[in-house]
Amino acid sequence: MQRTDVAIIGAGPIGIELAVRFKREGIDYVQFDAKQVGATMQWWPQGTRWFSSNDRIAIAGVPLITPGQEKATREEYLAYLRQIVTQFDLDVRTYEPVTDIDREDGGFVVTTEPAAGTTQTFAKRIVLATGGTDRPRKLDIPGADLPQVLHYYDDPHTFFRRKVLILGGKNSAVETALRCHHVGAKVSLAHRQDALPESSIKYWLMPEMKGLLKRNTIEGYFNAEAVKITPTHVTLKRTVAGSDETFDVEADFVLAMIGYEQDNRLFRLAGIELTGDDQRPAFDEATMQTNIPGIYVAGTAMGGTQQKYRVFLENCHVHIDKITAALKGETSDAEYVPTEIPES
Ligand code: NAP
Repeated sequence: MQRTDVAIIGAGPIGIELAVRFKREGIDYVQFDAKQVGATMQWWPQGTRWFSSNDRIAIAGVPLITPGQEKATREEYLAYLRQIVTQFDLDVRTYEPVTDIDREDGGFVVTTEPAAGTTQTFAKRIVLATGGTDRPRKLDIPGADLPQVLHYYDDPHTFFRRKVLILGGKNSAVETALRCHHVGAKVSLAHRQDALPESSIKYWLMPEMKGLLKRNTIEGYFNAEAVKITPTHVTLKRTVAGSDETFDVEADFVLAMIGYEQDNRLFRLAGIELTGDDQRPAFDEATMQTNIPGIYVAGTAMGGTQQKYRVFLENCHVHIDKITAALKGETSDAEYVPTEIPES
């Protein structure tokens, strides 16, 4: 069995930033990812730009420079991650999902299942950098499994001159509505609240969206939620108290932009306490150590399934200092300095 000081589980931006730091500090580690590095970004639609500006999502002190000085696209950021892994010659064991964590001999046995067969690694300590948006939140209504009901879309071009109904009312829903409109789709949007929550939606998306809704170029259905989907239309029901009004909206595609959930299986396997509606792992803010001594949490994994998003890549870089110091028996005074507008 391979032995190591630290197993980093997850190779998103924070997992990679941590690996670079460990390499620089001479801390012995292995790193696993169930998929490819930066896999969460792989399901973003083509050409999606980060909301956070480049300096906030750059890692390991390596500048993230984009050709047009714009916020990085998904493609530019994935290339940047590949560049960092190559530059620092990081040994990431991709496509090697961790399937079990057992406490043993003052450390942990980490079981992984790569294509070649089950492997076990003994690690004195573990860092879970597994992210917070592993799968889309699902609709629980008749027709939700029809093939034209999508939670991810690769290319807005798919929807050119087709009727698209978007479900949801926050940033994914609004960004998707605009992108579909820009490629010539006939877009409508249904949200269960009485209006879009303007203060939660990015200030550069809202004015255009408001204008399109006002002119009914994008048809907005508010106080309305989907109760049934068929191949040609969606039945919406009024969410106002006392009303059982329903009506049908034609749709060739339904884009359910209703948020994402964390897969917290490894937290549960490791015995980490999960708290509150978000099922956040319990951890010590100073060290990022969870309630299980020797297991740390890094990055957006600390936020659980966020009902209201407050933990983003840009406010997680301090975890690198905190965890490295804790592993070395030191104290970190790193603190995140909040920005005026997070995720921008
Ligand atoms: P979100 O903020 O969790 O919003 C989910 C939306 O779906 C809410 O409007 C919610 O309604 C609605 N919803 C949830 N369950 C529903 C159900 N069963 N039926 C109908 N509606 C339902 O998710 P998000 O918009 O995907 O944003 C997630 C994170 O990604 C945020 O941090 C966001 O800023 C970020 N983001 C980044 C980019 C980018 O970088 N380009 C793009 C998009 C999003 P209620 O309001 O009623 O709860």
